Amino acid sequence: MENCIFCKVVKGEIPSEKIGESENFIAIPDINPKVKNHTLIISKKHFVNILDMPSVLGDELISLVKKVALNFKSDFNVVVNNGKNAGQVVFHFHLHLLPRKKGDGFRMAV
Ligand code: AMP
Ligand code: ZN
Repeated sequence: MENCIFCKVVKGEIPSEKIGESENFIAIPDINPKVKNHTLIISKKHFVNILDMPSVLGDELISLVKKVALNFKSDFNVVVNNGKNAGQVVFHFHLHLLPRKKGDGFRMAV
């Protein structure tokens, strides 16, 4: 996809630090972190959101979530915004992994 920020990140056209990787996903720090170590897990292929992503990739996705989350050695939230009304701004599949600490001041809507 032309002009997709995350396609450019995957191709290395926009620099980012790869902190984890599997066959179909990469993990990078969020450029505008809501909490310390806020991480995005991004599909290497351009899927719009979770509805567009093949379900068969679910196991691999959760495995990478676990691997990255275990490195942070803290509690964490997992969030996927699907569609504009759910707060999705970048329309290329990504999952937010938000490490949590007592008193970090971050409030989830749910
Ligand atoms: P969402 O609202 O779920 O679409 O969130 C998009 C997220 O992508 C936001 O948290 C942004 O801070 C983050 N973001 C946008 N551009 C970049 C980038 N080049 N590298 C890392 N994170 C980014
Ligand atoms: Zn894309």
